[in-house]
Amino acid sequence: MTGDGHGFFVFMVAIQDERRHRAFLAEAQLRHAWQFRQRGVAAESDPVEVNVPVGWHPVMKCLFTEVESLVPEAERGGFRWRRLVAAQGALEIRFDGVRDRIKPAVFRAREAAQVTCEACGRPGRLLLVAGSRRVSCDLHFLERLRYCDRAGEQAASNWWMSPHPGLGGRAPIVVLRTGAPPEILIDLALRRAMPDVPRLNGAHRQRLQQTWPVLREAFGERLRSLRLAEFDPASQRGGTLLALLAGEADAAAQAGVATALARAGFSDLRLRLVGEGDLHAPATATDPWSAMLALEASISIPRYQPAAPF
Ligand SMILES: [Zn+2]
Repeated sequence: MTGDGHGFFVFMVAIQDERRHRAFLAEAQLRHAWQFRQRGVAAESDPVEVNVPVGWHPVMKCLFTEVESLVPEAERGGFRWRRLVAAQGALEIRFDGVRDRIKPAVFRAREAAQVTCEACGRPGRLLLVAGSRRVSCDLHFLERLRYCDRAGEQAASNWWMSPHPGLGGRAPIVVLRTGAPPEILIDLALRRAMPDVPRLNGAHRQRLQQTWPVLREAFGERLRSLRLAEFDPASQRGGTLLALLAGEADAAAQAGVATALARAGFSDLRLRLVGEGDLHAPATATDPWSAMLALEASISIPRYQPAAPF
């Protein structure tokens, strides 16, 4: 497949997805008209915002059907969807009216979306790629990594088609088609998608060292090292702070520690926790992207040593 051929293919997929989305929306509005209408208001003047990837259409259909059976005729007048949108791998659902009746259905839909590939509807998980979160199956995770290939789309396509020494001389695409476990391909594709290792000057280093006490406070002896990735001062988009922890990375701690970091003046840093095991097998880590950043595309932040008192 040439680069142009691939570009055309992506374009066609985008058109097909757009068509499928419109068909999905038309069908939903036809079958469950009252869910998309506000009493006394023309639908066109204040349309419901619907932007859900095709892989989640079955989840949505299930939600609409459930709501149909949960809300009795008499209470339908006050109900309407407001916003059904995929945002960073989460299904956002907003609506007016009959809150308590449909809450469980909304909860179930969100839960189902969390484990459903946004592109194809097969089982997936929330995966980060270059700052964007989506629920993907292994195949579509690989697809996303290919778009982020550092060498560009053409080179990525060539790589997928060419024999690879690490794959017994077979091309990645051939290995993929044999149905072999995709970990080794994910590992290779992740490496190809990694951004440059950041360069730090003295001022950066000095400032970043101040993150040590904050994370030390949160994780104690479990904190093994701190690394910085995805940092380009010219872009002013901050950087990714990787905290390498002994044992498993504790996802529950993430939010609290991120808040502590922001309070200490580091709201420009995105905190990611990486466990020891993640480094041994990035492809199967909870967050493969960050695990690979820690291994291949980050720089160590030296430990903070307060000046000795006089
Ligand atoms: Zn998929």
